[in-house]
Order: sequence, then structure tokens, then C-alpha cells
Amino acid sequence: ATIKKVKERGGSAISILTSGDHERLNRKSLIEKRLVHALDRRNLRLLYQPQVNLKTGKVEGVEALVRWEDSEIGVVTPDELIPIAEESGSIHEIGMYVLETVCAQMKEWKAKGIDINVSINSSIREFRDKDMAKVFLQQLQLNECDASSLTIEITEKFALEAEAEQSIIKQMKQLHQAGISFSLDDFGTGYASFRYMLMLPISSLKIDRDIIQTITKQEKMQKMIKGMIQFGKSLDFQVTAEGVETNDQLELLKAMDCDIIQGYISGRPMEAQELEKWLK
Ligand code: C2E
Ligand code: MG
Ligand code: MG
Ligand code: MG
Repeated sequence: ATIKKVKERGGSAISILTSGDHERLNRKSLIEKRLVHALDRRNLRLLYQPQVNLKTGKVEGVEALVRWEDSEIGVVTPDELIPIAEESGSIHEIGMYVLETVCAQMKEWKAKGIDINVSINSSIREFRDKDMAKVFLQQLQLNECDASSLTIEITEKFALEAEAEQSIIKQMKQLHQAGISFSLDDFGTGYASFRYMLMLPISSLKIDRDIIQTITKQEKMQKMIKGMIQFGKSLDFQVTAEGVETNDQLELLKAMDCDIIQGYISGRPMEAQELEKWLK
């Protein structure tokens, strides 16, 4: 923060916070407070975005994405919400909300004959809870959900930190042994370490949207994406391209032998019912 002098009631005080900082802090504490309230009332929603196999055209699964619109604050995007929840600790409750909702949804879909893999996003802080894996598996059992239909997406940053924390690797392995898959999200955004990719039970890579967006714009980036896909596949990872929006991007990714795409071109995040129609 820039240091600036603030005149207060004629006297002079030194504040290390700018008015912009104050606004941010106010908004942050308001979000924290309203989030607790929203979680109590389960006032969040999940949308589901399809993941489509490029070779078969089949829907491989969906990613569950949290949505929150507060009556006082309005829409708070996940990009703003999740870091605040990670810091305040509410991420545990968000994680449980997502898991419970997804399990109930999978149960409902199964009854309707829809057998689909669901991916959820997890933060490292959730894995620092010693009972995490146990609670997770109990929740699946309660809803008679198949662990092999669930994928947990973790970020590169998560993977990098997990490498140094045996207890987190233990939780991951426990979930993996029960049948849950792990996917490395936002791949290529800056924390890549090849060692942890082999050490953690990860089976797929999701190339970050910002990287995919460059595919038609920069020749070097195009080559890099091609290399990332080849690299992933040669190590038997399933490779997903995130944020595919245009036909040009799609064609290039097809030519590069990418396995799966997830993006507006094939389907936006949708309500569960909307997705059911979309699947038909
Ligand atoms: P992510 O896991 O990488 O999810 C993909 C994001 O890209 C989603 O943003 C999705 O709506 C967006 N997206 C997908 N296709 C396209 C496209 O073609 N174009 C554009 N412009 N965007 C596209 P969203 O839903 O805003 O979520 C942002 C991030 O917040 C997620 O990134 C994830 O890291 C985090 N997040 C979302 N839901 C949860 C959750 O339940 N728990 C946790 N821990 N994190 C979550
Ligand atoms: Mg994700
Ligand atoms: Mg991602
Ligand atoms: Mg992202």
C-alpha cells in the first residue's frame, strides 16, 4: 500500500491504507459476512458445464461451478468469492455444499437413467481437514453415489503445496483408492512441476483458458499448446482444453489430438434441468 497522510479532524494521522484499500476491505468483510448467511440458508447454486470428447462427440462429464447472488451485494463471481472463502475458512462449508448438492444431483440423474461423471473444484484448505476423505466418502455412500463418477479438480498451486504435505497426499490417495479421479486444473498457468504430476494420483490435465485463447493468435503459443497436449498424452493423462469459444480454436485442437473440450462452443454452464434437455 502507498503511504499517505490523512488529515483527521484537523490533526494529522498516518494511514498505510488508501481509500481503494478501505473499499476492498469493506467489500471483503461484507462478502465474508453475507456468505456465512447464504451458506446457512443454502442460498448458493451449482451450474454444470459439459465436457465433450473431441473424437466421439460424446459428453464425458460435467464440471460443477458455484454461483452466488446475494440480495445485498448482488452477483459475486467465483473468482472473487473463492479466494475470500479460502481465507475466511468458509471454503469448508462451500466444499460440503458442493459435494452434497452434486451427490444428490447424481442420485437424481441416476434414477433418470443419466449416468454422467461430475467434476468438482477443491481448494487445498479443504484437504487440510484430517477427516476430509472420510467425510467425502461417507457423503457418497449416503447418496449411493459411485466414487468412480466423481472427479476432483485441483489447481497447479494446490499440487505444488500438496507435494510438501504428506497428510494431503494421504487424503488424496485415500480418495483415489476409493475410485475418485483427480484432474489438474488451469494447467500451464505458472506452477507446473513435473515431479508432482507423477507423485500425485492425477489422471487428467486441463489446459487453462487463457492459454487456449492464444491458440489462434500466436504461432509460438500454438506450438506450445501442441507440445502440452503431446506431453500430457505421452504420460497417459487425458487432456482437456478449457474455454474453447470458436470454431478455429476447435479445429486446431482437433488436429492436435486433444481429448476433450470444455467451453462456450460446446455448452455454457447450465442449471441441472437445462443440462438434461441439452443432453437429449
Ligand atoms: P475453473 O475450475 O478453471 O472453471 C472454468 C471457468 O471457466 C468457469 O468460470 C467457467 O464458467 C469458465 N468458462 C468455461 N468455458 C468458458 C469459455 O468458453 N469462455 C469463457 N470466457 N469462460 C469459460 P467460473 O464458473 O467463473 O469459475 C471460476 C473459477 O472459480 C473456477 O475456474 C474455479 O477455479 C473456481 N470455482 C468455481 N466453482 C468452485 C467451487 O465450487 N469450489 C472451488 N473451490 N472453486 C470453484
Ligand atoms: Mg475447474
Ligand atoms: Mg480451469
Ligand atoms: Mg480457472
